Amino acid sequence: MDAFLADLAGIPHSRDAAALRVKSADFSWFSPIMSAALGGRLADVVVSPRNEEDVLRIAAACAKHRMPLVARGGGTGNFGQAVPLAGGAVVEMTALDKIVFQRSHVARAQAGIRLVKLDEELRKNGQELRMHPSTKKLATLGGFVGGGHAGIGTVTWGILRDRGNLLGLKVVTIEETPRVLELRGDDVNLVHHAYGVNGIVTEVEFPTAPAYEWLDTIVVFDDFERAAEFGLALATSDGILKKLVSVHAWPVPAYFTALKPHLPDEKAAALLMIGSETREPFEALVQSFGGTITLCVPQANIYEYTWGHTTMHALRADRSLTYLVCIFPKDYTLAAIGRVHRKLGAEVMLHLEYKRFNGHMTAEGVPLFRYQGFEQMTRLYKAFEAEGVRIANAHTFLLQNGGMKDLDEKQLAFKRSVDPRLLMNPGKIGGLDDLPGGLSGTALEAAQLPASGWAY
Ligand SMILES: Cc1cc2nc3c(=O)[nH]c(=O)nc-3n(C[C@H](O)[C@H](O)[C@H](O)COP(=O)(O)OP(=O)(O)OC[C@H]3O[C@@H](n4cnc5c(N)ncnc54)[C@H](O)[C@@H]3O)c2cc1C
Repeated sequence: MDAFLADLAGIPHSRDAAALRVKSADFSWFSPIMSAALGGRLADVVVSPRNEEDVLRIAAACAKHRMPLVARGGGTGNFGQAVPLAGGAVVEMTALDKIVFQRSHVARAQAGIRLVKLDEELRKNGQELRMHPSTKKLATLGGFVGGGHAGIGTVTWGILRDRGNLLGLKVVTIEETPRVLELRGDDVNLVHHAYGVNGIVTEVEFPTAPAYEWLDTIVVFDDFERAAEFGLALATSDGILKKLVSVHAWPVPAYFTALKPHLPDEKAAALLMIGSETREPFEALVQSFGGTITLCVPQANIYEYTWGHTTMHALRADRSLTYLVCIFPKDYTLAAIGRVHRKLGAEVMLHLEYKRFNGHMTAEGVPLFRYQGFEQMTRLYKAFEAEGVRIANAHTFLLQNGGMKDLDEKQLAFKRSVDPRLLMNPGKIGGLDDLPGGLSGTALEAAQLPASGWAY
């Protein structure tokens, strides 16, 4: 460690116990299985590069001293992406927070910039992010690329890996003489959602969208299936501007205490962001479905109750809850939602995010349920799959088992070329750089859960 730090002289770093604890944790506590498997894993040092030159020196020193490293943005990943399993260095990227350029519909920024700051800067020029996670206030651009997949805006623009949503990435390799690569086109997906195992991202180039005034809106319905039907109709109403279509079966809205005045008991709720220019046709759609608008105002941050935030609000109220992540079939989305709700509604509370995905409109579900153990989890996986619903395994930190990334030969060859000593975030690719001592107990069982994956 001393020789490693000597090579980094002048670069801010900390070995303070509290800093190591905070910077080694993420939101994997969302999963009771990952909590047990990952709790207590600590880095040995937190290093905070100030610029790209520092990143190059850190990459060289890690290669020279065989020091494992985990790049870190806001630390909001909920699949253990940012937890160091083999100690070593956490490389905190948040000081690399400059916008490199902003043109009419394209921008490029350093990877450590917080998405909230980036969006604010874009809006000064009449543009905004096409999409962001519900953790926009904490998450960084590089962390979204490295650990995220979609979010607010996806109902219009698709998911991050859909061709065109990422234009270019600058990546530093982990070698004694590090290389700086520019990935463009489909190659960006070698690094996107790779949990930081394929090089340190220092810059991201992406297309932007015209900025609108978004109305944070709640519409309530007597019946969840009607709310789901409305959600799909809104999501596919191409003329209506929307950035978010999120539908919640009762009692999920009961967990949103700050919104209580707008969420009557026993009602299903649609949480939406609607462009003010298209409020009139939106209201006509609501009327035709028999919904009631209980809120419609700008800047209420309603997105902080949707996507991963729904789970967070529920878990804060009741730690016995856990969740699944699933995707409803594109050809019979509503039929499958209805069947799952009728068959499993007593055990799981449904919450849907409408999303464009691979050119189709569909719904992602993040059903909440009271966790009773592994057998129940496996039974629910199978029950969802029996209805044609695909499951992404939210209870494993293994990249290939999450169901959202195909680790094909091209990916693995790229991994070996940019990180030949397998120092980046070790333990996240099962079979390649397994955790020292291997997986055991529920972590092993969770890794083996048969996630059906999302590619179609
Ligand atoms: C309440 C809640 C809500 C969420 N909602 C969403 C959502 O709507 N959509 C969504 O996609 N995700 C969501 N997430 C997951 C997560 O917040 C997002 O993916 C977020 O974009 C991660 O950004 P971050 O900066 O916090 O990344 P981190 O957690 O710091 O890192 C994530 C991964 O990226 C890697 N990484 C970070 N920076 C770099 C870099 N510069 N170079 C290489 N690798 C890097 C890390 O090593 C790690 O593996 C949610 C999580 C929570 C807890």
